[in-house]
Amino acid sequence: MTEANKYLMNTYKRSHIVLRKGRGMKVWDADGKEYLDFVGGVAVNCLGHCHPKVVIALQKQAQRLLHVSNLFYIEPQIKLAKLLVENSCADKAFFCNSGTEAVEAAIKLARKYAKDHTTPDRYEIITAEGSFHGRTFAALSATGQEKLHKGFEPMLPGFKHVPFNDIDALKNAVTKHTCAVMLEPIQGEGGVKVPEKNYLKQVRQLCDERGLLLILDEVQTGMGRTGKLFAYEHFDIEPDIICLAKGLGGGVAIGAMLAKDKVAASFQQGAHGSTFGGNPLATTAAVATVEALLEDGFIMDNCRRMGDYLMAGLGKLKEDFPSLIVEIRGSGLLIGMEITKNCASIVDMCAERGFLINCTCGNVLRFMPPLIVAAKEIDSLIDVLDDIFGTMQ
Ligand SMILES: *Cc1c(COP(=O)(O)O)cnc(C)c1O
Repeated sequence: MTEANKYLMNTYKRSHIVLRKGRGMKVWDADGKEYLDFVGGVAVNCLGHCHPKVVIALQKQAQRLLHVSNLFYIEPQIKLAKLLVENSCADKAFFCNSGTEAVEAAIKLARKYAKDHTTPDRYEIITAEGSFHGRTFAALSATGQEKLHKGFEPMLPGFKHVPFNDIDALKNAVTKHTCAVMLEPIQGEGGVKVPEKNYLKQVRQLCDERGLLLILDEVQTGMGRTGKLFAYEHFDIEPDIICLAKGLGGGVAIGAMLAKDKVAASFQQGAHGSTFGGNPLATTAAVATVEALLEDGFIMDNCRRMGDYLMAGLGKLKEDFPSLIVEIRGSGLLIGMEITKNCASIVDMCAERGFLINCTCGNVLRFMPPLIVAAKEIDSLIDVLDDIFGTMQ
């Protein structure tokens, strides 16, 4: 990898593996070695690698039109907005190119809405400690992890961080300057932290009482990942703004910010924009992805069943290795296993045996396979983890 080191900036802690090809749950490296992919592009490849519906739709679109700018309408962008609106609590969609851009759009819209409807000094957004909202400056400032801010200060003013899953801390943080609360329904990068069942409901109630917008960052939890199209559906609430990206394009870069009509109305012409946002290729891929996710419910049903199955398999491991495994948590196919050791070597040992898994927060093994994963693939992962944990006793 001398050329990689010579030419690429050193921003990622990467595996030495060079991946070249993928189909469904499988990927192959440049030497032809096969892997089962339980990383799934960090919750991006929801339909598996190179899903034929996405690939064929892209091929057709590539021959028709690649780009025209947002000075004109294009059919797939309208179709995607309709699909997302008809299958969510939101009324309008704005398209961008990534998760951090969806968050930026949400922050701008929340501030603009407050300016339009309240006083000019209401601009503060409360987010959670341990949260992850992206790497651009507003999203980074919103992110509740000091280690990611380090070296880039000063952060953008107007963000306050409170402990996740603590309604009293949130209540106490609201001031006359607060305009919104932004949360991940389940913290992904923060170690797959699932809040208590009624936390988000209490947050929604607080927002209603204090006239605050509720922004849910569903960049990781959305698009079927938790067994429902959006994670908020598990919590019996409706957010005012939803941020999407990752799984939305089934492997193609696209982000979206959805909002209720009354909120969306604060983005008037010229208020926000993106050259590539909602471009023909990205929206075509996303239309194919959302249609596949919704088609007869098979994929999300599989996600729920396989999520339970993986959770049960990991639970057995916890019984066998109680001193190594602290906790298993998650929803659908977003599952974290907190262990007492640093997990980097486990990730490497899994890769050696042909299984790609992820580690977040240093000691949480994270599993985000494509939602099409099969029971026998989970069985083989559990066998390999069992083996590896056995050598660590
Ligand atoms: C990944 C992620 C982001 C950032 O998305 P990018 O596409 O990398 O900019 C934002 N929020 C959450 C919850 C994420 O998981």
